[in-house]
Amino acid sequence: MIFPIVAYGDPVLKKKAKDIDKEYPKLSELIENMFETMYNAHGVGLAAPQIGLPIRLFVIDAEPFSEDEELSEEEREQLKDFKKVFINATILEEKDEEWAFTEGCLSIPDIREDVFRNETIKIKYFDENFVEHTEIYGGLAARVIQHEYDHIEGILFTDKLSSLKKRLIKGKLANISKGKVNADYRMRFPLAKKGR
Ligand SMILES: [Zn+2]
Repeated sequence: MIFPIVAYGDPVLKKKAKDIDKEYPKLSELIENMFETMYNAHGVGLAAPQIGLPIRLFVIDAEPFSEDEELSEEEREQLKDFKKVFINATILEEKDEEWAFTEGCLSIPDIREDVFRNETIKIKYFDENFVEHTEIYGGLAARVIQHEYDHIEGILFTDKLSSLKKRLIKGKLANISKGKVNADYRMRFPLAKKGR
């Protein structure tokens, strides 16, 4: 099942999400549907708040980046099989130099901006079988995780921009909340007039 994706301006995107346990109702079905929703929108990551659920769950499949010719062979190889479910994640450490990369977000269509993030992270999380892992990621893999992790902390990539950039995109963001944007997937707009 494909869920509508919650657009910028919805309070659920600003909330710190809550941990879940093994008994969470229909968890494997939810995870499957989140992947389906993400693929349908051509995204590489999707966090539960983006479908309106304030829980600490996100899914990633960074395969599309493995075709990016600007990346090193090694990084492309790593991203090829990078399909994962992160439950109750905590980033334990973020280190190494910050680098910029142009990010977008399924909840904020048509806006892409450079975001600075640390190169390396150490993260603890549970997988879809509730097995605990602590792992270290770098480069683009780390970045995709950091972006999705921000979602469960109630942070959007636009929050990380300079105040000048924020001013420049303010009108565009307001329009997204109202549904005045073209996305090729179904969305739920917080301020849309009825009937849209
Ligand atoms: Zn996002």
